[in-house]
Formats: sequence, C-alpha cells, structure tokens
Amino acid sequence: MKFYSTKDSAYKQNLKTAVLNGLAPNKGLYMPEEIPVLPESFWDELPGKSMGQIGFEVLKHFFCPDIPEDTFRTMVEDAFNFPVPVVKINDRISVLELFHGPTLAFKDVGARFLARVMSYFADFGDRDINVLAATSGDTGSAVANGFLGVPHVNVHILYPKGLVSKLQELQFTTLGQNITAYEVDGVFDDCQRMVKEAFTDAELNRAKILTSANSINLARFLPQSVYYFHALAQIPREMWSSLVISVPSGNFGDITAGLVAWKMGLPVKRFIAAVNSNHVFTDYLETGVYRPEPSVATIANAMDVGDPSNFARVSKLFDDSADKMRKVVSSFSYSDSQIGKTISETYASSGYICDPHGAVGLAALNDGLHDDECGLFLETAHPAKFVDTVEKFVPVKVEIPARLQKFMEGRKQSVALAADYESLKSKLS
Ligand SMILES: *Cc1c(COP(=O)(O)O)cnc(C)c1O
Repeated sequence: MKFYSTKDSAYKQNLKTAVLNGLAPNKGLYMPEEIPVLPESFWDELPGKSMGQIGFEVLKHFFCPDIPEDTFRTMVEDAFNFPVPVVKINDRISVLELFHGPTLAFKDVGARFLARVMSYFADFGDRDINVLAATSGDTGSAVANGFLGVPHVNVHILYPKGLVSKLQELQFTTLGQNITAYEVDGVFDDCQRMVKEAFTDAELNRAKILTSANSINLARFLPQSVYYFHALAQIPREMWSSLVISVPSGNFGDITAGLVAWKMGLPVKRFIAAVNSNHVFTDYLETGVYRPEPSVATIANAMDVGDPSNFARVSKLFDDSADKMRKVVSSFSYSDSQIGKTISETYASSGYICDPHGAVGLAALNDGLHDDECGLFLETAHPAKFVDTVEKFVPVKVEIPARLQKFMEGRKQSVALAADYESLKSKLS
C-alpha cells in the first residue's frame, strides 16, 4: 500500500517513508491510497473477537506485507493489551471506555502501536530516530509512555506552560531515560507550529532523523479505527444500523479513524464530531468554509485546538465536499458550563462519572439523537486525570487508579523554552 499527501494526491510514499516522515515534505498529511471494504464474513465473525484479532484483520490491509504478517500479528497483540469495554449509561446511550491503558487515555492505543511500528523500522545503524510531539495534555503522556525505553528512539515532547493539568504534566516529565519534556512559554498551537517547522527545516533534517508521533502520523491514527469495530463486536447486531457515534474531537485524529472504519464498511448510521468552545469544524459544516481560529482554553483542554490538523484528512474522505460530509457527520459545540452541567446531570441520573472530554461527546448525543436512534460516545480519558475539574460537578470523590497514583510520586524534569522555533532548533542540533 502507498500513502498519498493531502496536499498533492500524486505525491506517494511507501509505509516506511510515510511513517518516518510523519508529515509529507509538502506539509500534507499521509493518507492510504486505497481504503479496502471488508468482506461480509468479517461482520459475521466479529462478535466475540478480541481487539488484537480485530486489529490484525483490519490493519494488515495497510501495514502488510511491508511488515511481515507474523511479526505484525505480534505487534498488534502487544499494542492492544488492555480492555476497551462498552458500558451502558441508559436505555439508549452507551459509552466506549478507552481509558484502561497505561496512561488512562485513548491516545495509548495509537501511541503503543506507533512505537512498535517505528522500532520495527529503526534500522539506521548508529543514528537515532528523534520523535517530536506537541501535546495539549494527553498526547505527551501516551507517546512518552508508549516509547519509554524503546532502543534507538529519543522522544521530545513540547507542551504549553501552565495549560496542562498537574497530573498530565507528571506523566511525561518524570520518566527520564529517552524522554525529554520542553515547557513552552506559549499555547498548544505554538508547540504544534514549532514541531511542524522542525519537520520542514532542511538543514536540521540533514543532520537528524526527525519524525512525529502526533495524530498527524498515519501509524497513530489508523490503529484507532480498530476500536470502532471492537465496539460493534460488543453491541447486538440489530442495533448497528441505528447507531450514532459521538466523538469528542480536538485535532480530529480520533474521528478520522472512525470515518476510515466507516469507509471500510462499518455499518453504523452516522457520526457526531463533538467539540468544546473551539468550534472551527462546527462552523465549517454550517458554512462550507474552513476558517482556523486561535485556540480557546476550556475545561476539556485536550481538545483546545483552533486549527485541527486532521481536518485535511476528514476532508479527503469526502472528496473535499462539505455536502458529502454533512450526510455522515454533524457537529455540536459546548461551553464549559454546559460541559459541567452534563457531568453533574449524568452522575445524578445514572451514577456514571464522565471526564470533561467524554461529557462533550455525551452532551451531543443528549441533544442530537433522533427517536429511532441509539448512541455511543467515546470516553477518551479516565475522570481521575481531570479530578480537580470533575469534583466540582459531582458530590463524590473520584477514585484515583493505582497506575495514575504512581506518577504523582515522580519528580518533574523539563526544559524551559520560548515559543519560537529557533529556541527549539538550538536544543535539537
Ligand atoms: C486528544 C484528546 C481528545 C481529542 O482527540 P483528537 O484525536 O485530537 O480529536 C479528546 N479527549 C482527550 C482526553 C484527549 O486526550
């Protein structure tokens, strides 16, 4: 399989180059040149399959034979080693809990998979691979933990000073080994811009092998399509065709993966891109014009993105047509107070504690579900990761899982950085 750039569909690369490039040289994002439709037998056999089994069957179309099937099967089983259960909230709405991995957020799925694909391709002799990632919170911890101790790979995490939670910060600044954290005096979009600039800096790229681990890397977002199939494996088949999937969205990697699954034949009714006060995408669906905005800080901070990178991919999936997109995807935007209200009302009516990101997804189902539909929202992080926010809206203490507690005992080590590219470059060279 070849992968094309969203900036020029004639520009194509093989898997290894696309994975190690991260971003294409023309600043486009790589997309598979072909999205295979799964055979009818796949759906018949789906119920009862494990995430690892499903992952192999879905992803081999993109990753094999560039990676031999036997090796690939092991990589997939190894990456998807934690449960992703569907839990019922009420008669019509269920939640897909994606937070049972090592850092309690859905980004563990993509990061663990990507780390294994990269270490497979790390055959550069004495030159290390440098992974650069900008994070608004959870990418940093998932990437750092996914790559921790992987030989011949150095990881550089950029995060906005004071704009990620204490706990998120501890999850990527306390690890040491091959992980360096940079505390940038700016916002997430500055971090993202600095990383993008590094990838297109010819001089730096001659000296170093640089690659990305953000959701712009195709080996980060593609594996996320697996849990959409895995969700259906846990839901009675007669409900599939009335199912609406609501995806809390920031950089839009997660929903891109869902829409790739849909192109592969995922037989659900439609998708909702649920966003916080950063509503560039909601506006796009309304007007047909994509207009990036500076990001706004919210209590669902991992979704504070004013110019979602993966918009280019979503757009390609619908031939750059807003009309085609509207037939499958709608979007709702929620303010902080609406997010808080959803957390408290959900606890009051069902006893379920949402994190602020999942709550955005749930709010969109509460508002957007038609009478003949049922809903599934993605719970992208464990509420304990945002304990200070969540406890303002529920009358109980949020239990902190042991694997999160462990990070709180670590010591923060980070490198202070001004929000300009030259200061990053001087650290990397
Ligand atoms: C990253 C993140 C999101 C947004 O996911 P995208 O793929 O960037 O749209 C939502 N919730 C949480 C908790 C996240 O960490």
